[in-house]
Amino acid sequence: MAHLCRMKIVCIGRNYADHAAELGNTVPSEPLFFFKPESAVLHQDHPFTIPEWTQDCHYEVELVVRLDRAAKWIEQGHASRCYTQIGLGLDFTARDVQQQLKKAGKPWEKAKAFDGSAVLSREWVPLTELGGDVQDLRFSLLKNGEVVQEGHTADMLFPVDALIAHVSRYSTWKTGDLLFTGTPAGVGPVQSGDHLEGRLGGRTMFALDVL
Ligand code: ZN
Repeated sequence: MAHLCRMKIVCIGRNYADHAAELGNTVPSEPLFFFKPESAVLHQDHPFTIPEWTQDCHYEVELVVRLDRAAKWIEQGHASRCYTQIGLGLDFTARDVQQQLKKAGKPWEKAKAFDGSAVLSREWVPLTELGGDVQDLRFSLLKNGEVVQEGHTADMLFPVDALIAHVSRYSTWKTGDLLFTGTPAGVGPVQSGDHLEGRLGGRTMFALDVL
């Protein structure tokens, strides 16, 4: 996947009210974003290794949008021109480390940008095949065969096009960049031996073991 060699990953925090509430956070007045480096990507169903420096590593399943054109200062009304492909991913988060950083008013990168923290689905699905409306997609995460997270993109606080427009004011979108659009409620810890499976509509988008 040569196009992945030069890209950035933009992740959105607190984009579902029920998830913001479960972590005791207020709902943001504008999109909250952060970056993961390319070295964070875990591809194609590789196993995930929990870093030894965290005791509370959480899964967060998220709809992922791949930009297939560049965009700077794009308006929300034009943002849908920038993508056609939809994926699913996990934003692995060292929650204990993140809580310490948040309390200290420090950036989250140590808790969010580590190796393997950005799981990507094995396929990208044309939005047209999913019904054409990015705000009407259902996705879920199963842990050891049980559903632990269920999301519907209609519940986003900021819709995909608003996220793309907002980020483009600060950072130019390049072809191949990825947008993790935030996680719904139900986040929780992983343990060695867990099996995680992400679904978008009826499709299994990724499946991986936790080591
Ligand atoms: Zn997230």
